[in-house]
Amino acid sequence: MVDQVLTSLIRDVPDFPKPGIVFKDITPILADPQAMNQVYDALIEPYREAGVTRIVGIESRGFIFGTPMADRLNVGFVPVRKPGKLPWKTVSESYALEYGEDTLELHEDGVGEGDKVVIVDDLLATGGTLSAACRLVRRLGAEIVGASVVIELAFLEGRKKLEGTTVHSLLSY
Ligand code: AMP
Repeated sequence: MVDQVLTSLIRDVPDFPKPGIVFKDITPILADPQAMNQVYDALIEPYREAGVTRIVGIESRGFIFGTPMADRLNVGFVPVRKPGKLPWKTVSESYALEYGEDTLELHEDGVGEGDKVVIVDDLLATGGTLSAACRLVRRLGAEIVGASVVIELAFLEGRKKLEGTTVHSLLSY
């Protein structure tokens, strides 16, 4: 069910933000409250009995999906952000982009030993973003139970960068 609902609510935008990229626009999902509810439930489904203690969401669409997941599991939400956005002491990890590199940061006290974490983003493409977030969480001594994404672009083989992490995706292209 979720597959059909989702497929109809994801808008392909060719050549955004640059030529050759087909952007998966999830704003029609956000505009549909029933679809949103189904998505949140589907994203947490594998983790209901997993003893999760924290949801870590990646800026910015990971925040949208991550906070209701944390609410449903009755655990805390922790943001992973672009550099210079988090006010407290941070750890940071860089990852390669097609041209250049990018960096993500996490508060030092955001997760720690004993935490069981699910990491969330809207989309898995090459895996650079999610693998950097995994490194941040592991550096702070927490265990990653899994990663959840709404969309996986399987042809980009992002899972290869995420060996050792179970990835749960709702839709795969
Ligand atoms: P990657 O690090 O290559 O796995 O890219 C994942 C990040 O880039 C996610 O935060 C996505 O929001 C964004 N992203 C990459 N490719 C797309 C795409 N085709 N459509 C929408 N978002 C994308």
